[in-house]
Amino acid sequence: MLINKLSKVLKFFFPKLIWKNNHLGSEKIIYLTFDDGPTPEVTQYVLELLKKYKAQATFFCIGKNIESNQNLAKLILLEGHKIGNHTMNHVNSWHVSSQEYFNEYLACENVINMLGTNSVGFRPPYGRISYFMYHKLVDYTNIFMWTFISGDYNKNNKPDQIINSAKKSIRDGSILVFHDSHKAYSILSNILEPILKYGAQNNFIFKTL
Ligand SMILES: [Zn+2]
Repeated sequence: MLINKLSKVLKFFFPKLIWKNNHLGSEKIIYLTFDDGPTPEVTQYVLELLKKYKAQATFFCIGKNIESNQNLAKLILLEGHKIGNHTMNHVNSWHVSSQEYFNEYLACENVINMLGTNSVGFRPPYGRISYFMYHKLVDYTNIFMWTFISGDYNKNNKPDQIINSAKKSIRDGSILVFHDSHKAYSILSNILEPILKYGAQNNFIFKTL
């Protein structure tokens, strides 16, 4: 996939981006992440499945979605998961000024703080971050990328293929990206449970970043 080639380039120019989460201890850990929520019904679906598999995860929320679904955002925290910053309006770092982008980061951070918690880190929408913003934001926060992006937002992707490539890519410390959005739901609802099941059967535990 093109995005995987791009990630090699990014790793060279942006060395502090976190692609794989190294951790202490001997447990085998998978980090599930859900971007673009909270979204009514879809986030609830995800939360129920996570509970069934005693899995914890990280939700990189869009600030305006937290504002319009505050109870859902609180439920994420109540169930032991963590929230990360995905900008206020899901802006593309290549399309706005650096100041505007930084304000988007701060506004989302503020909305997360209003929930009574700190964000666990930042994930740039579209996986794009300018060199300038990268240098500015790494002083403030951890920037989490991924080891595996499910492509659940693209209806042309086949659930079975996604599940198979997820299984092949999963290692200790893997960060997997899904989306708790309406757009992704039809695929997400076919891939999430098989991936959780695979992780559990192979003695992985699912933790927050
Ligand atoms: Zn996103």
